Amino acid sequence: MRPETRLVHTRTPRPAGTPLTVPLYQTSGFSFDDLETFADGMGRPDGAFAYTRMGNPTVRALEDAVADLEGGAAGLAAASGMGAIGSVLHGVLRTGDHVVAQRDLYGGAHALLRDLAERWGVTVTRVSGHDPDELRAALGPRTRLLYLETIANPTGHVSDLAALAAAAREAGVLVVVDNTFATPLLCRPVEHGADVVVHSTTKYLAGHSDVIGGVAVFADAALHREVWEHAVEYGATADPFAAWLTLRGLRTLSLRMRAHCANAEVLVHRLAAHPAVAAVHWPGLPDHPSHEVAGRLLSGCGGTFSFDLVGGRAAGEAFVGALRLVKLAPSLGGTETLVLHPASTSHRRLDEAELRAAGIAGGTIRLSAGVEHVDDLWDDLVNALP
Ligand SMILES: *Cc1c(COP(=O)(O)O)cnc(C)c1O
Repeated sequence: MRPETRLVHTRTPRPAGTPLTVPLYQTSGFSFDDLETFADGMGRPDGAFAYTRMGNPTVRALEDAVADLEGGAAGLAAASGMGAIGSVLHGVLRTGDHVVAQRDLYGGAHALLRDLAERWGVTVTRVSGHDPDELRAALGPRTRLLYLETIANPTGHVSDLAALAAAAREAGVLVVVDNTFATPLLCRPVEHGADVVVHSTTKYLAGHSDVIGGVAVFADAALHREVWEHAVEYGATADPFAAWLTLRGLRTLSLRMRAHCANAEVLVHRLAAHPAVAAVHWPGLPDHPSHEVAGRLLSGCGGTFSFDLVGGRAAGEAFVGALRLVKLAPSLGGTETLVLHPASTSHRRLDEAELRAAGIAGGTIRLSAGVEHVDDLWDDLVNALP
């Protein structure tokens, strides 16, 4: 063959041994010797790998790993946490359906539900997430889905998953839980009755602030297939390199979570004792409203918490400006410690009353504890406090 052809047709070596890590299949598709296998791969999520938007070995390794950790039947990796959440909600809901959702939710999920209500004729009722009776009262004949978060942001609210899921299942309502803050190491919602678990893998699962991704895990393979068809149509599925980075991060999740939780616990107690801090919100603290539920549900209270500064908004803005080591940034769950001032960034569109309802004050700071030495973190926080 001539050079032009040889340049294009490089051959893929087939190793005799098994690679130690999941290889990165950075390919848009696969070639086949027979048409039947090819067609099979286009038609179902567990067929031959044919086109990467529908399935890819690196992406599948991530889906299987997270599904296994969560105790689900199958996983669906998406381009982002919102891609996973959107695929599930759009894949399950139809016009006229009713959704019951927890009141304090991630901003993106909040916005998606509002969009579903305004443009797609889905009705939404908000509940506190504390009380199964409140949920029962909210359920109606068209209720299709209950949407919860294991640990909500930035209040640290922990939903009583088992009680709420039992009430929902009695009524034939599908339970979807965002488990981003807890990770499957601290809580496995499927064990408490959830039908679908969603993650922003951008956060703890990938854990190094270098990738955007999401995963949805399904207790039931039939529902997985339904949502897969939808995610494939929307093109919300994951890129192999993003999946590969996430798999690499996943290997150290247990080590990182231990460090995140331990650092958060130390900082929480030191902040709670500091005169410039009015309140600290972390479910591990005995005076937190979710403390008792968290004790039953979680095997650790997570690495992200919030606290309110005595001086209100001015104190909050001055504090984030005075930090040196700790970075002011969106996101959480990476190896480096990050803070956010919700009132001026993530929740800036909320008015005073909405902020109060979401548990956010002008002086509220959210902190995602990294894995640095906790005394270096404390030195930086103390220097920035008034
Ligand atoms: C970040 C986040 C999301 C959205 O994930 P992206 O990867 O940013 O799309 C959803 N839920 C929670 C709880 C999050 O923290």
